[in-house]
Amino acid sequence: MKIITSVAEMQEWSSAERSAGNSVGFVPTMGALHEGHAKLFSESVTRNQRTVVSIFVNSLQFDDASDLEAYPRQLEQDCVIAERENVHVLFVPNHKEMYPDGFTSIISTGSIASHMEGLHRPGHFDGVATVVVKLLNAVAPTVSYFGEKDFQQVAVIRQVVRDLNIPCEIASVTTVRDKSGLALSSRNMRLTAEHLGQAPQIFILLSQIAEQCRTHETSSAAMKNRFNTELPAVTAATVEYVEIVDSNTLRPAQIATNGTTICVAVWFGDVRLIDNVSI
Ligand code: AMP
Repeated sequence: MKIITSVAEMQEWSSAERSAGNSVGFVPTMGALHEGHAKLFSESVTRNQRTVVSIFVNSLQFDDASDLEAYPRQLEQDCVIAERENVHVLFVPNHKEMYPDGFTSIISTGSIASHMEGLHRPGHFDGVATVVVKLLNAVAPTVSYFGEKDFQQVAVIRQVVRDLNIPCEIASVTTVRDKSGLALSSRNMRLTAEHLGQAPQIFILLSQIAEQCRTHETSSAAMKNRFNTELPAVTAATVEYVEIVDSNTLRPAQIATNGTTICVAVWFGDVRLIDNVSI
């Protein structure tokens, strides 16, 4: 596995591969890799001749300085996972390489990013969109892979790629969960043992609500209310938001029915977890 740290070298490598007729799959990450990331890598490796994974903790997308500070960094372990998955290139630019002195251009993501994560993490999606466009310009992939765990993020990236005519396919990959149903996340390692034991209740409750909606069409308000009352009744979690949205447009849905998705963000102590289940 080759490690590349400069944008110029990344562009050169990719241009040579594309000229040789190889498709390039790309998975952007912030590191602290787990089996959720690995599934994205293996999708890319299966479907493309070459796979590039980037590791870059993007300060621009953190609205909370302490969250950025606490974000896990473990490059050595990450290399082991990427090698195991047969990734060809690990692209690891540093902050200065991505945001050199004089950098000022930020993408404005608009209405698709105005609720849920976008509302509760001001500036988050502008930061995500900006770094993803920069990474796509560096890697110039044929296709880029994103996890459905970050449901709104996939929609924002699709919108940006369409709006800015970026010649790259966007593919989404289903959420990888542990045996208890908890969505794998780099943030799980910061949960206390007690909270780790309770966190699977997020998916258990979401699945129960989705099942109820599949069999009896019901109002979104009633289902949001159920999540808001039942999760804190069985765990120490605080619900930041629960929204039921059209799975394609992400517009809030009045009725929780087929074609909608329940999206939540909850706090366990100072750890914020997100998850979603489609109905
Ligand atoms: P991150 O390093 O958290 O920015 O995530 C990098 C990519 O991995 C994003 O596209 C995430 O949606 C995806 N991802 C993170 N956790 C999971 C998971 N449990 N299952 C599938 N994809 C995931």
